[in-house]
Amino acid sequence: MSRTVLVTGGNRGIGLAIAQAFAKQGDRVAVTHRGSGAPEGLFGVQCDITDTASVDAAFTAIEAELGPVEVLVANAGITDDTLLLRMSEEQFTRVLDTNLTGSYRVAKRAATKMLRARWGRMIFISSVVGLYGSVGQVNYAASKAGLVGVARSITRELGSRNITANVVAPGFVETDMTAVLPEERKAEYLKAIPAGRFAIADEVAGVVTWLAGDAAGYVSGAVIPVDGGLGMGH
Ligand code: NDP
Repeated sequence: MSRTVLVTGGNRGIGLAIAQAFAKQGDRVAVTHRGSGAPEGLFGVQCDITDTASVDAAFTAIEAELGPVEVLVANAGITDDTLLLRMSEEQFTRVLDTNLTGSYRVAKRAATKMLRARWGRMIFISSVVGLYGSVGQVNYAASKAGLVGVARSITRELGSRNITANVVAPGFVETDMTAVLPEERKAEYLKAIPAGRFAIADEVAGVVTWLAGDAAGYVSGAVIPVDGGLGMGH
């Protein structure tokens, strides 16, 4: 059965791989972008998830074109790394406002229609860092840990309406976000990852499409690592 899917930040990186995986299985897929436009085959909506009105307008446009969002993938996110003592309040707040509050904004907007349909899937893209911690990422780790509370509370609130909410926690994935990391940092990570390699975005996408499908209908409030074993036990 084909579904209407929204992937925030689906114009590039992990989000794009997720969007393409849904499109490949025949779903109607919308992605947000902030001016770049959408890759071919995907319905692009301009949207800044830090702005509630922009989120509302994006959902309205998707509803008109593809129907109500049945599968939400809250993927858009940013980093702004620095050590705690150097981290300004603005740096902390900006990352939280995008990664955590932004996910709340899209989840809330999607929930209205999912409740009406009595069916929905929400998948939040967190990070191994959310529960593992990371030097220089107090803001980012806090935002990603927060998503676990969001998904588990949604599970308790909406679980009886056939709506699931899960968290996917990738490890190191090769995208623009990680391309900027210094080589010595990448080498350190590589040593710590049991798989001995970084992930490709498609390996995250496979878990996300599985969570959205009928086979995962009884999986909710889960945190699924896709990290080559990096975060084991966390
Ligand atoms: P990229 O930096 O490649 O892409 C980030 C995406 O988020 C872009 O599509 C960007 O849109 C979008 N975005 C950022 N801010 C906003 C905003 N305010 N409103 C709307 N969209 C926004 O990141 P990745 O693909 O690497 O990461 C995707 C997700 O996966 C993130 O949540 C990240 O934290 C998480 N993750 C990544 C890992 C990695 O190793 N790469 C590991 C673990 C988790 P635009 O093109 O307009 O800038």
